[in-house]
Amino acid sequence: MEIKAIRGFNDILPDEVGKWQFVEKTVREVFESFGFAEIRIPILERTELFSRGIGEATDIVEKEMYTFTDKGGSSLTLRPEATASMARAYLEHQFYTFDPVAKLYCIGPMFRYERPQKGRYRQFYQIDAEVFGVGNPMVDAEVILMLIHFLRRVGLEKLELQINSLGCRDCRPRYRDGLKAYLTEKSFQLCEDCQRRIQANPLRIFDCKVQTCQEAIADAPKVIDFICDECSVHFNRVKEYLAMADLDYILNPRMVRGLDYYTRTAFEVVSYDLGSQNAVTGGGRYDNLFQEIGGLDIPGIGFAIGMERLISLLPKDKGLIQRSHLFIAAPGKDTHQEAYRIANQLHLEGIRAEFDYEGKSLKSQMRRADKLNARYVLILGEEELRKGRAVLRNMADKSQEEIPIDNLPDILKRKIFSD
Ligand code: AMP
Repeated sequence: MEIKAIRGFNDILPDEVGKWQFVEKTVREVFESFGFAEIRIPILERTELFSRGIGEATDIVEKEMYTFTDKGGSSLTLRPEATASMARAYLEHQFYTFDPVAKLYCIGPMFRYERPQKGRYRQFYQIDAEVFGVGNPMVDAEVILMLIHFLRRVGLEKLELQINSLGCRDCRPRYRDGLKAYLTEKSFQLCEDCQRRIQANPLRIFDCKVQTCQEAIADAPKVIDFICDECSVHFNRVKEYLAMADLDYILNPRMVRGLDYYTRTAFEVVSYDLGSQNAVTGGGRYDNLFQEIGGLDIPGIGFAIGMERLISLLPKDKGLIQRSHLFIAAPGKDTHQEAYRIANQLHLEGIRAEFDYEGKSLKSQMRRADKLNARYVLILGEEELRKGRAVLRNMADKSQEEIPIDNLPDILKRKIFSD
C-alpha cells in the first residue's frame, strides 16, 4: 500500500514555497530592524516545561500535546508553542548576565493534536517574537507596532487590532471568583467541557464555540472591571503608547487567550482581507511564566503568527515562484553535451538554466520550455554550433536572434537581469 502523510501534517509544495520564503525574508528584515535576533530552539522538550509553563488546565496541555516516553524513560513533548522553550533557553544560557533585555524571534513548526480542518493542522508553523526582561508598557506597544508593521509589509491591509488586559496574579483571582459565581448559576446552560472548566479554568469558557455556552456568557463579568490599580495604569500607558505610534485598536473585553501564562496586556490581530474574520496572530504579556518554569522573576511579552493562515491571506502577487531564466534546447547528440556544458557554466553565473537530459526531439524540448515558463530558449542547432553561434528566442514576444556562444553569460546576464 502506498504510504501517505499523516493526517494534519502537510507538505509545502514547491509552488507555494515562494510565499513562505517571502514571508520569512520579511520577518527577518522587519524584526531585525526592531533589534530582534533569531534563536533556533529544539522541537522536543521535557514535557514538564509545557505542563508547568502553559498550565495543566489548558486545552493544549490537557489534550493536544504529542507526548511520549523515550528509550531512556523521559517524558518528552513535541513543542506545541515556542514561548516556553525560548524562556527556557534564555534562562539556561543566562542571557540576563549579558543584557537584561533580550529580543528574540524564531520561525518553525509546532505540533498540536487538534481536529484537522481548513486552517487548523497538527503540524503548523509559527513566527514567534518575544521580549524578555522589560515590564514597561512601552515595550507592549512597541511589540504590537512591530507586528502591525510586519503584517502591512507582507501586504495585509484590512487589519483590526484588538486589545484587553487580563490583570495579574493579585487581581485575576478576584475576577476568577466573580466569573465562577456567575457561571455556576448558568451551569445548566453550559456544555460538559465548560461545566468542568468552571472549577479548573473558567476563563477558557470564552473560547468555547458551543452556542448555548456563548449565550450563557453574554453578560458575564469582564476582567477589565476587576483589574487592580497597577494593572489599570499599565493598560492606560499601553493605550497611550499605541496612540503615539498612530495605531488604532478596539477593546475586546472577551479576549482572554488560551494559555494560562498571560498577564496584563493581551492582543490579537484580525484580518478582514478574505471577507470574513480571521485571527492571524495573538500574543500578550506573561510576567509569571519564568517563575512557573523554575526561573527568576523576569517579565516577558510576545506574539505568535500562524504561518499557514498568514499565507492564505497574502495578496496574489506576493512571493511568486520565479520561473526559469533559460531553457537550452539541444536535440542532436553533440549539441546535447554542449547543453550540459553551457548549463553548468550559466549556473555558476547565477542564471537559472534548464535543459533536457535525454536529448529528446526539438519539439518535445520546446514543449517542456513552455511548461517551465522559461523566459528565453537557447536553441543549439548543429550547424550554428559549428560556427560558434546559437539562436536565442524570447518566449514573451517570440523574437529570435543569433548570438555568439563564447559570450553567452554576459549577453544573457544583460538581458535577464535588466528586464
Ligand atoms: P496560539 O499559539 O494558540 O495563540 O496561536 C497563534 C496563532 O497560531 C493563531 O492565531 C493561528 O494563526 C495559529 N495556529 C494555532 N493553532 C493552529 C493550528 N492547529 N493550525 C494552524 N494554525 C494554528
